[in-house]
Amino acid sequence: MELRILVLPGDGIGPEVTREAVRVLHHVAEKWTHSLYVRKGLLGGAAIRATGGPLPEATRELALASDATLLGAVGSPEYDDLPPSERPEKGLLGLRKALDVYANLRPVYCYESLIESSPLKNEIVRGTDILIVRELTGGLYFGQPRGIEGTGGGERAVNSMVYTRSEIERVCRMAFELARKRRGKLTSVDKANVLENSQLWRRIVTALAADFPDVELEHMLVDNCAMQLLLRPTDFDVVVTENLFGDILSDEGSVLAGSIGMLPSASVGNQLPNGAWRGLFEPVHGSAPDIAGQGKANPLAAIGSAAAMLNYSFGLTEEASAVESAISQVLLSGRVTADLKPPGAPASTEEVGSAVCEAIG
Ligand code: NAD
Repeated sequence: MELRILVLPGDGIGPEVTREAVRVLHHVAEKWTHSLYVRKGLLGGAAIRATGGPLPEATRELALASDATLLGAVGSPEYDDLPPSERPEKGLLGLRKALDVYANLRPVYCYESLIESSPLKNEIVRGTDILIVRELTGGLYFGQPRGIEGTGGGERAVNSMVYTRSEIERVCRMAFELARKRRGKLTSVDKANVLENSQLWRRIVTALAADFPDVELEHMLVDNCAMQLLLRPTDFDVVVTENLFGDILSDEGSVLAGSIGMLPSASVGNQLPNGAWRGLFEPVHGSAPDIAGQGKANPLAAIGSAAAMLNYSFGLTEEASAVESAISQVLLSGRVTADLKPPGAPASTEEVGSAVCEAIG
């Protein structure tokens, strides 16, 4: 099979973790005799430095012409004072919109070998296996009007939480379908006691449930969900929610998984005519400027995202499973980075990448 992918290393630890993920993809391609074509592009702070903007037109075109895109992370302290419209993160938001990847799938899985890495009690996190489906191209991050206006005491800032019926329907339908293939339970998270936006969301999800009688649907307010995820995480199967709530809840998920360096993600939209998804695959974590360039970054979230790419964009389930089970083996072996608190000396980012390739065989 021919795999044409775009890699956007981005900023901070992005280049370090994507290097290992691409190494793993080359290893898989060699073992299963696929032809892997990797192109590189600029996004975020790296793009601002080279071109003046966070999402160059060349990057947008390359992404649209590729089967799938693997992203590291964007964001850099040197741009922290810029307005949101000029910051590195704006490039990522624009790319998600350009690819129309409206659903961000974030698995939160507690590996038995990492159970001590979670600050929660073992009996609470053991067996956690959640899929958070976050709406990705609507809501507060994109809604208009937005901006800061006025001066003095009257200076005001506005952001708009906007969702259309079709935006809600498509992501929730995908969540129902995913729940059907897992343990058949869907938790829809909103703030329907306060927000009209959430009232529409809840009404649409409730109506959709009629098409999925085999899926058990529950509604939960986001503040309660933030608490329940830490109190009884094993009761959750698939969680679907809007953009901002999903952003926050999935970072909370890192506490269940042991480290944010463990959380992969797949952003997908409508299926292409051949049944594949032209997705955007990226770790949940950011550019981690505090550890960038030191070989300390955990590459397993990026490698897990590459596995998700093999699965969703190329339908290579055997290869994806091989990478996932290699990750489990590496965790068991203890050759892991410092964030996972290994018993001995921590491994470097590169050593973890090598360990995954060796485990694949
Ligand atoms: P972060 O995820 O970059 O870091 C939070 C903490 O987790 C830090 O202590 C960091 O060292 C640690 N960490 C993160 N990834 C790790 C890994 N792979 N291995 C080991 N430790 C890891 O979040 P932040 O500090 O809030 O944000 C830093 C920058 O990243 C900001 O500019 C922010 O806007 C950006 N950001 C980008 C994305 C993205 O590209 N998708 C997501 C979140 C934040």
